Amino acid sequence: MSLTDITERVRLAERAAGRPEGAVTLIAVSKVQPLERVEAVLGAGHRVFGENYVQEAAGKWPALKERFAGVSLHMIGPLQSNKAKVAVDLFEAIHTLDRPSLAQKLARLADARGACPELFVQVNTGEESQKAGVLPTDVDGFVADCRGLGLTLSGLMCIPPGDADSGPHFAMLAEMAERNGLTGLSMGMSADFEAAIAAGATHVRVGSAIFGARDYG
Ligand SMILES: *Cc1c(COP(=O)(O)O)cnc(C)c1O
Repeated sequence: MSLTDITERVRLAERAAGRPEGAVTLIAVSKVQPLERVEAVLGAGHRVFGENYVQEAAGKWPALKERFAGVSLHMIGPLQSNKAKVAVDLFEAIHTLDRPSLAQKLARLADARGACPELFVQVNTGEESQKAGVLPTDVDGFVADCRGLGLTLSGLMCIPPGDADSGPHFAMLAEMAERNGLTGLSMGMSADFEAAIAAGATHVRVGSAIFGARDYG
């Protein structure tokens, strides 16, 4: 199973970066994957998973959480405000806080429940029009506004442009997190998680390298 290989590569990258073992959380991105592949990774003992779609996650994870104790589920896809309530009940972390209206909604839900998932602010480091995320120039203000609403933030998240070297984007995200007093960095996918760890990632989101290619057919 590739889980073993990827886990080992994460450990090696931690060591190479002079970071303690376990400094990086490997999020196994299971979106669109057949259930038996997800069960195999759970069976191998892995417990941290990422999903992109609330509806898909709500359809499969409640039953899996019953069967496998200790699952931590991370929302890594765009979150519509009308799905926020389902999301806060299902996910232990949300990596895609990207706009004031969603921050307000999450703050209201957190007040009502007395608890909130871990939150990461998504930053559109490449300033791509088709991509979600707060623009780099707006990050400091947005972080301050979220804190003003009473939200506790864990860190920042980015998805660098597909055609670019990720390195500068990872470095930019790390710099923005540092100046805002945030320690969490959700960055790095199958193709570049080792570079992300070298740049300080605390959470890497790895899908196809663990599960195999996704079949959207
Ligand atoms: C799908 C997805 C991943 C995983 O991508 P792979 O290239 O399969 O590792 C990571 N992060 C986000 C935001 C994704 O949507």
